[in-house]
Amino acid sequence: MNFLTLFARNLRTGPQTEAFPLGPAFTPEKLRGRIVFNAENCEGCRICERVCPAGAIKFAKSPDGMTFDCWHNTCVFCGNCEFYCPTDAIHQTNDWNLAHVQADKFAMVEHGLIPNMKCSDCGATALNTAPMVKNVKPPLSEAELGEVRSRCPKCRAKYLKNRKVPS
Ligand code: SF4
Ligand code: SF4
Repeated sequence: MNFLTLFARNLRTGPQTEAFPLGPAFTPEKLRGRIVFNAENCEGCRICERVCPAGAIKFAKSPDGMTFDCWHNTCVFCGNCEFYCPTDAIHQTNDWNLAHVQADKFAMVEHGLIPNMKCSDCGATALNTAPMVKNVKPPLSEAELGEVRSRCPKCRAKYLKNRKVPS
C-alpha cells in the first residue's frame, strides 16, 4: 500500500492508535497490572512473599503489627502472589497506568498493616490475622469465626480442638 492510499484510508477510517495520554486507552479485563492488598483477609502466611520472583513483596514487624509492602517498581506482574494466596487477600488489578516521575518512586508502593490485638482468652499480644480454617469441617459459622479471630494462635488451636461439632 503506497503512502497516498494509506493516507486516504486513514482519513476515511480515523486514527488506529489510542488517544492515551490525552484520552482513555483500551484495557483488556484480564490484563495483569497493579497489585492490591486486603489486610482484613490476610492469614499472615507470607506465601506471597516467598513465591514472588522479583522480591517485590516484603513483610516486616512493626510496633503496631506486621506491615505489608508491594513495590510496583519491582513487580513484574506475573500474578504468582494472587495465584498462591489462600484467602484472596492479594489481588491483581488490570491497572497498568503506573508511569511516574522519579521523585515519586517511593510512593509506588501498596502498603498494608496487619494490626496487633490482645488475645480475648489469654491476653497475649498477637497479630489480628484472618483465621486459617479453610480445611476445618464442618465450616465455622460467622460467630465461631469471630471467636477464633479474637484469639492468639495458641488459643485458636485450643478453641478448635475443643470445638463442639453438632452431630
Ligand atoms: S496475602 Fe495471602 S499469601 Fe500473602 S500472607 Fe496474606 S494470606 Fe498469605
Ligand atoms: S505479581 Fe509477581 S512480581 Fe508482582 S508482587 Fe505478585 S508475585 Fe511479585
